[in-house]
Amino acid sequence: MAVEQTFAMVKPDGVRRGLTGTIIARLEAKGFTIKAMKLMRISRELAERHYGEHQGKPFFEGLVSFITSGPVVAMVVEGENAILEWRKMMGATNPKDAAPGTIRGDLATTIDENVVHGSDAPATAEREIGIFFDPGELV
Ligand code: ATP
Ligand code: MG
Repeated sequence: MAVEQTFAMVKPDGVRRGLTGTIIARLEAKGFTIKAMKLMRISRELAERHYGEHQGKPFFEGLVSFITSGPVVAMVVEGENAILEWRKMMGATNPKDAAPGTIRGDLATTIDENVVHGSDAPATAEREIGIFFDPGELV
């Protein structure tokens, strides 16, 4: 176990539905620290970079148009084992499989609009923090 940083995001559906505060409250209640945070629109270029691993898959176009459909809240979150712990708090990708008590289990119903994002591994966290934030934006 070690203190890690992960990239977390409230997706456009979460912001539209007014769930930003709830999601930040869960992060803070867990004991994580927010090191950087901004409300922003994701450009098509940024979306294609962020979801580059999914390029060519049947859901890619829908994913890019969804993530660019409205503002998101992008965050760098720090804490003990933060990458895996935040993924556990988010729950399974498909809310139908997400356990009650997880964010997706409690607050989402469909795989297309699953409210939150979190990096899935240390290398991904480093890459995603780097494409969303300049080093000087971290406190
Ligand atoms: P995210 O990266 O968005 O946090 P995740 O890591 O849980 O989610 P990924 O496998 O990275 O899941 O997929 C990225 C997003 O693509 C998912 O959040 C989901 O909205 C969408 N997606 C993934 N698999 C499918 C699928 N089979 N059908 C439709 N949409 C999918
Ligand atoms: Mg992912």
